[in-house]
Amino acid sequence: MGVDYYAYAIIGLRIPRDKIIGTVTKHKNLCKCDPQTEQMGEEKFCDKCGKLLDHTYKGDDPKFGVGMWEIQEKGLKGWPVVSDGDYGNYFYIGIRKAYYADYKPVGIRDTGLLVKLENKFKMDMEKLGLWDPDAYGLWSVLQVSC
Ligand SMILES: [Zn+2]
Repeated sequence: MGVDYYAYAIIGLRIPRDKIIGTVTKHKNLCKCDPQTEQMGEEKFCDKCGKLLDHTYKGDDPKFGVGMWEIQEKGLKGWPVVSDGDYGNYFYIGIRKAYYADYKPVGIRDTGLLVKLENKFKMDMEKLGLWDPDAYGLWSVLQVSC
């Protein structure tokens, strides 16, 4: 167990986390006994195994059907995605992503290609409700994972 740091540069959007992965209150019954008995009080425990009958916790609520790590592996509509950490505040979605371990520079020398990519990217983000011209730019991201 430790802390890992990853550095990225990304041309694209900085999106608040809750627009990609929200949080939702979930309930889970930790007891596997059957049948269960009803009990009074705030927290209800099984009288056989002692486990909570209604465990309430905060869980992820993926807005695009994929979780925190899957979206970073696969991207969104083919565009690369990174977050600023396990409990970070932002996701970054872009037309190009540079990662220190790729060992190669990432750039676009053809400005015509850059304009085409930006237009396609903007259209895709508008369809997803994520386009925000004020959030578009070149971002350096330090991802902290623990
Ligand atoms: Zn039980």
